Amino acid sequence: MKLTDVILTTPYLDLSTIFYHEVSPTPLKNPLLVSVNPEVAQLLGLNPAHLNDKELENLLNGTLLLEGSRPYAMCYAGHQFGYYVQRLGDGRAINLGALNGWNLQLKGSGVTRYSRQGDGRAVLRSSIREYLISEAMNALGIPTSRALALISSDEKVARERWERGAIVLRLAPSWIRFGSFEYFFHTNKHKELESLADFCLQESFPQFIGSEDAYLKMFAEIVKRTAELIASWQSVGFNHGVMNTDNMSAIGITIDYGPFAFMDTFESGYICNHTDAQGRYSYDNQPRIGYWNLERLAHALSPLVTHEKLQSELEQYGNYFTNQLMQLLRAKLGLDTTQENDSDLLRALFSVMENGRIDMTPFFRTLSRYEGNRDALLALTLAPNQLNEWLERYDVRLTDNSSSVDERHRQMLRTNPKYVLKNYILQEAIDEAEGGNYTRVNDLLRIAQNPYDEHSDFERYAGVTPPQHTNLKLSCSS
Ligand code: AMP
Ligand code: MG
Repeated sequence: MKLTDVILTTPYLDLSTIFYHEVSPTPLKNPLLVSVNPEVAQLLGLNPAHLNDKELENLLNGTLLLEGSRPYAMCYAGHQFGYYVQRLGDGRAINLGALNGWNLQLKGSGVTRYSRQGDGRAVLRSSIREYLISEAMNALGIPTSRALALISSDEKVARERWERGAIVLRLAPSWIRFGSFEYFFHTNKHKELESLADFCLQESFPQFIGSEDAYLKMFAEIVKRTAELIASWQSVGFNHGVMNTDNMSAIGITIDYGPFAFMDTFESGYICNHTDAQGRYSYDNQPRIGYWNLERLAHALSPLVTHEKLQSELEQYGNYFTNQLMQLLRAKLGLDTTQENDSDLLRALFSVMENGRIDMTPFFRTLSRYEGNRDALLALTLAPNQLNEWLERYDVRLTDNSSSVDERHRQMLRTNPKYVLKNYILQEAIDEAEGGNYTRVNDLLRIAQNPYDEHSDFERYAGVTPPQHTNLKLSCSS
């Protein structure tokens, strides 16, 4: 299928007008297509070979309207850093419609009713980050929004300095957030709350429609998915940075990438977001905040389901989280059997990593080839004695494995990525792009989508992060 043959649908607009604002994108000056993602084109049923760059550029810039498209921004509220904010909504995102089960959305395409003081824009820096990281997360098996393409422009956008305006075309099976439900609950619009819950069932949980406790089942599923999502973040050292309830997806995927980071050296209290002085959204707070956010969602759903029932589903969160995390971490260690004290072994490892300032990604990758010789691993730590002790325990634990050493290595090399897109790596691509060279963005897209493969030209990115770039904090401005 070609882009101009596409017909979009807009089921969200069947809801009453309080749910959205129909608004046209405001084009950027001199748009330029920076990158196209063939994998996502295929997801949408588009033939990458038939994609016309000019058409795609126009689609992202809002000057090509596909058949059936009726652009709109969605209304939502949210708890930001613990405080309820009634009026958020898509202040700089505009939905185009749905295709093949994916809701297409432009981010940075101008003001909407929900923009408040904002300019409705996104800068090239943050757009490159979102574009690449969503593809990296997906390749790591972590549920996430995706991205089809990215344009830059000559539009000047004011942040701490003047930056280039850009637009990402991103997509998700649903863009409903915890904060979407909160909006209608806190304005006492319980009929609309019910309509939203029905819409969400239709869109994402049709298996529960018609069952007696459909809303409860939906909530239970959101609890499970959120717990498992955050377990997967923890397993790869991902820090989202802004886990406000308006950034929490009702289908348990990662959305709204801002000052996120893949940790460099392991640091349990790491805070990627420069503005988060208290560390509310630090790495080790993420599981707890996931629970807190689900409590806000349960509260918002309380006109539809009794508190007791919601609460009893919420109580499953810890189990879902722990089971998933243990499963993911066992796989990272290549353990194919389960022992009761595996959690001790893992806890000990995380403390060894923290004390030895170990860079997680090269560590697990190196461990994936471990067969007794410890030199390469010991070279990664500042506390070799502790790691040695831990490896003694690991050696013993491995004797309980049923797979051969070769099988374990193969499985671990498919589990422990050689590449994660650390912030300094993204920044190199951003620096080049701001100078008008987009080659590195496209190189990183390939690496992001194939993180377990060797990329011989980019061996440097697989190593330990240079110390001057380690665990920096990022500004929220985007
Ligand atoms: P975020 O933390 O980026 O997810 O954004 C929080 C809220 O602020 C959302 O309602 C966004 O739509 C809105 N917002 C962020 N940046 C802008 C901007 N430049 N213009 C308008 N609204 C914005
Ligand atoms: Mg947001």
